[in-house]
Amino acid sequence: AHEGILRRQSLRESSARTYARSLPIVPVRARGLTIEGADGRRYLDCLSGAGTLALGHNHPVVLEAVKKVLDSGAPLHVLDLATPVKDAFTTELFETLPRELADHARVQFCGPAGTDAVEAALKLVRTATGRSGLLAFTGAYHGMTAGALDASGGAQDVRVTRLPYPYDYRCPFGAGGERGAELSARWTENLLDDPKSGVTSPAGMILEPVQGEGGVIPAPDDWMRRMRRITADRSIPLIADEVQTGVGRTGTFWAVEHSGIVPDVMVMSKAIGGSLPLAVVVYRDDLDAWEPGSHAGTFRGNQLAMAAGAATLAYVRENRLAERAAVLGARMTGRLQGLAADHPCIGDVRGRGLMIGVELVDPEADPDGAGRRTGREDGVRTSTGVPPAAPALAAAVQQECLERGLIVELGGRHSSVVRLLPPLTLTDEQATAVLDRLADALSAAER
Ligand code: PMP
Repeated sequence: AHEGILRRQSLRESSARTYARSLPIVPVRARGLTIEGADGRRYLDCLSGAGTLALGHNHPVVLEAVKKVLDSGAPLHVLDLATPVKDAFTTELFETLPRELADHARVQFCGPAGTDAVEAALKLVRTATGRSGLLAFTGAYHGMTAGALDASGGAQDVRVTRLPYPYDYRCPFGAGGERGAELSARWTENLLDDPKSGVTSPAGMILEPVQGEGGVIPAPDDWMRRMRRITADRSIPLIADEVQTGVGRTGTFWAVEHSGIVPDVMVMSKAIGGSLPLAVVVYRDDLDAWEPGSHAGTFRGNQLAMAAGAATLAYVRENRLAERAAVLGARMTGRLQGLAADHPCIGDVRGRGLMIGVELVDPEADPDGAGRRTGREDGVRTSTGVPPAAPALAAAVQQECLERGLIVELGGRHSSVVRLLPPLTLTDEQATAVLDRLADALSAAER
């Protein structure tokens, strides 16, 4: 069955298939961290549905919540009507919000994916401000629909102004650390305060508190506070895209809590649906300038996803899984940093909580020679002085991991960052097993 399914899908599916290319497995059963393929092989899954599975696969509380709805006779499809299931989800969601926002919050249920919620957030701030420009960051990822795509790194939209994200390791200013973050903030202020820049009054700024697809890059807390001040002083709504960072993943329930900032708009998806499709925008009620029906969508009321999501949010909160993610994440990152001593191909280890990235480089290449990464990133000049990225090595590590029964994801500007997004329910023993296999895979790929 395994080979046949792989072969048929490779013939029938679009050439855009991604994960299925690098991870030729046919999952048939899963529980917690483990996935079992049709060929009987078992894998530790650190991809977790691209960061969706806060509680791992088929967690009993999620299954129980879904079964309860199925057995109750409640309608599964209700457009955006009010239901007891939605009421419970919204109550649970508001419980998790920063207090200052929760007291004045509205929630917009969106089409099923993160990109739909990004789209709604962009439209919301444009409607509320009557302006159209948008500030977004280099290396950002917000989704695949037109507006979200424009806000992502690499896109070219006249209405979007690209700002340099504070990427410590490959600092766009060749500075890194606090100085790099300071230069990013100043760049932003200078643009907004220069009457000739043409971007003095944008509709909003959208940022990820930790860039995920961009290569697991945490924004410094001071920089986040600075961005909050810069936008607040100029009445520019700040949108935090917490699609990947939310629900305990980074060590706080929402990643904005690290810096203590309160955004005007928060975009949420992935883990909030407890592994089923769900996406919402939460925003300050004074931005609610929409007319009834001005943002529609047939699938804004997935009852099963709301039930699975409410159960997940409650479980993460009640069991303090964010704190657990912080402790375990720090331990894992520490061990990976230790590995760097034996593996010169590890250029940088970074992350927050259980959102971890290992950037692989070519240590032999001269950072100041031809291999030096200079050029432009999304229109912003870069000059970093660190060894060039090693995408081929990263792909080899991913394959060696798979051989050893470990599923990891790649990401980053050059696809050279090995990413770990394990469930927050990961045990100490599982964390050790994951890192043992990864270390082994690194040694094998280097040979
Ligand atoms: N925003 C961020 C920060 C994401 O990581 C993603 C998905 N990786 C999205 C938006 C888009 O979500 P979706 O794939 O569900 O459309």
